[in-house]
Amino acid sequence: MAIMVNDCPRCGSQKITFQVKGVNYYGYKLLVNSKRANVYEVYSVCKECNKTTIFIAQQLNSGADLSNIHWDESHWNLSQCAEVTGVITPADLKVSQPPEHLPQDIHDIYVEGAKCLSIGCYNAAATMFRLCLDYATKNLLPPEGQEPNNKIRRSLGLRMGWLFESEILPNSLRELAECVKDDGNDGAHEGILDKNSAIDLEEFTFLLLERLYTEKERLAEAKRRREKRKA
Ligand SMILES: [Zn+2]
Repeated sequence: MAIMVNDCPRCGSQKITFQVKGVNYYGYKLLVNSKRANVYEVYSVCKECNKTTIFIAQQLNSGADLSNIHWDESHWNLSQCAEVTGVITPADLKVSQPPEHLPQDIHDIYVEGAKCLSIGCYNAAATMFRLCLDYATKNLLPPEGQEPNNKIRRSLGLRMGWLFESEILPNSLRELAECVKDDGNDGAHEGILDKNSAIDLEEFTFLLLERLYTEKERLAEAKRRREKRKA
């Protein structure tokens, strides 16, 4: 049985022995002396809690590819030939990117929503996407004192309905906006959103933000290029 020693990110045990079940080469790191160090993902089981962790480890010597070793049958101590430099976490999962040219606050909220979605936290994801829509649509309302009334202004669902009705939001997106239900009947309040509803909401949020911010900025860029050519 091959082993390694490290702190366990699952149970918190320090300097605990792990059973090494497998090692996968996935790239290399350039060192200061322009040599290369192989980098691996190490699948291992904690002797204390019996849970698995995938560590990132960098080879210490320029020996053979560690992924060619049958770790289950060997009696090596991996700590003698590789150094742990990190742990694979949910942050390493593929996360969909927001549209370009968003205001920083909306960009950051969208990214947080996409991260929640990637780890199956659908209600948290929906709350973040709704917040993006909330920020983006509040700015589209006429000044206070004018239509619509306060009830409509405050509710995301009603506000969006009004913005579509007034043709301030593009009518082509109206059907997709079904996923943004009225306040009081959504993930943030009821905790009942399933995966598909969260994906619907992500898709709609992407398209709407793209219309409101990305396209506007691309048009402005094209205009600037044209004026530069004229000059
Ligand atoms: Zn453990």
